[in-house]
Amino acid sequence: MKRVAIVGGGIAGLAAAYELEKQRLAGADLDWQLYEASERLGGTVSTTRIEGFVLEDGPDGWVTEKPWARDLAVELGLKDELISSNDATRKTYILIDGKLEAMPGGMRMMVPESLESLEGCALFTEAARAAYAAELARADELKASAPTEDESVSSFVRRHFGEEVLEKIGAPLLSGVFGGDVAKLSVQAVMAGFVTMEREQGSLIAAVQAKLKARGNKPHPPIFTSLRRGMGSLVEAIVAKLPAERIHLSQPAMSLKREGKLWCLKTMKGTGKAKRHFQRVLLATPIDATKVLLESLSAEAAALVPNDASSAVLATFCWKPEAASQFLVPTGFGFLVPPDASATESLLAATFADQKFPGRVPEGCKVIRAFFGGASAAALMEQSDEAVTAAALKQLRAIFGELPQPEASLTTVRRWPRSLPQYAVGHLERMAKLETLVGELGGIKLLGNAYRGVGVPDLVRDSRAAVRAEY
Ligand SMILES: Cc1cc2nc3c(=O)[nH]c(=O)nc-3n(C[C@H](O)[C@H](O)[C@H](O)COP(=O)(O)OP(=O)(O)OC[C@H]3O[C@@H](n4cnc5c(N)ncnc54)[C@H](O)[C@@H]3O)c2cc1C
Repeated sequence: MKRVAIVGGGIAGLAAAYELEKQRLAGADLDWQLYEASERLGGTVSTTRIEGFVLEDGPDGWVTEKPWARDLAVELGLKDELISSNDATRKTYILIDGKLEAMPGGMRMMVPESLESLEGCALFTEAARAAYAAELARADELKASAPTEDESVSSFVRRHFGEEVLEKIGAPLLSGVFGGDVAKLSVQAVMAGFVTMEREQGSLIAAVQAKLKARGNKPHPPIFTSLRRGMGSLVEAIVAKLPAERIHLSQPAMSLKREGKLWCLKTMKGTGKAKRHFQRVLLATPIDATKVLLESLSAEAAALVPNDASSAVLATFCWKPEAASQFLVPTGFGFLVPPDASATESLLAATFADQKFPGRVPEGCKVIRAFFGGASAAALMEQSDEAVTAAALKQLRAIFGELPQPEASLTTVRRWPRSLPQYAVGHLERMAKLETLVGELGGIKLLGNAYRGVGVPDLVRDSRAAVRAEY
């Protein structure tokens, strides 16, 4: 019988456990156990449900284009729970000089589907519109000079559209997802689709237009998908399929050593330690824990695990109908703030949660989720909930004017320290080396958001594929 340990009970570890349990029930001769450091499962995926409000503590949905989270949800019996983002009223704003300026419609990240959509858009100066037009005209030159080496997101966006587009849309969009610095992020790792487009067509605008044309009249799927009762219901549905006796909460892994042909995993259990042996170990831990566990096995491998990770601090505010009717929130999903390295408590983004997905709040209520990332999140991480909410409200008030006081009992603050690993330039190459080195150890596999994608669908795909490949 193969004994398998899963270390870490975030969505990556849980998806692996689900797949292992499926294989076991189908007759595979295996025994798996999952060790989670905290008292709960799900990691960053967590939903607070209170007084009819569905408040997301971490991810609030997933990109529909990536089918793997949906597939899992359907398999778990959640088909009727799937909801689509309110795309008919989809708009994203960028905070420029204290004002929310709408991004033009029909954008694929920073790439417009047509130059016409940029006309009359207050977000861009004439120079930025000219840079967009020039990109289309420079297709041959861009194709001929497409680099084979990796480069930063900022260098890639700047080459195509210039500094203004990078600062106003490129940086806030990417920082909003990866929490990181576009001057360091690897374009090959985080925007692989655009890199391919550049190689094939030179101009990204031309490539996006060609895709649209090929698509014809097929309706666009919703941009985001989520679950009626929140992302936490994905975790709950997985956990419901797993035998409780295989899950060990509050048991952080402390060390991993080779003993003969087996891996010896030591965990903290209460005030003592527990030691168990396994043939296989799936490490689905955040980067700092993974580095500690790998260090004594292969310092070289440990060093290849990403070092930098961005933190997130979220403050969510709810207003019941009477207070909600006293202020206006523009139609749309939320706004992004161009990163400013000198600002210490600057929001990175905010979501108009009641407008992004249907049915998240009782009739007539409003919810804004404010998101601090990067240096601001690091600065606020150790501060009190009151300090975090005060910092967020101050900025929201500067934008929306005199916001009424949000419901105190519904205000939440969540901290996710070092939760978003940075895929720095050269990431894919380092990950290939890391995979080889870890493969040589025999029986260990690295799962989680540090390697092959940070989104929930990526992690579900990756963990399930890793298990299917071997068991
Ligand atoms: C604020 C925020 C918003 C996001 N929004 C979205 C979104 O809308 N859509 C989307 O697709 N993605 C989103 N993401 C990304 C996505 O949610 C994460 O990448 C993903 O949930 C990470 O899952 P994971 O299992 O890799 O890690 P984690 O969720 O970090 O889980 C790791 C687990 O390992 C445990 N652990 C740590 N050390 C040990 C140890 N020594 N032993 C045992 N266990 C240990 C931890 O307690 C934790 O439970 C968001 C992320 C953040 C932070």
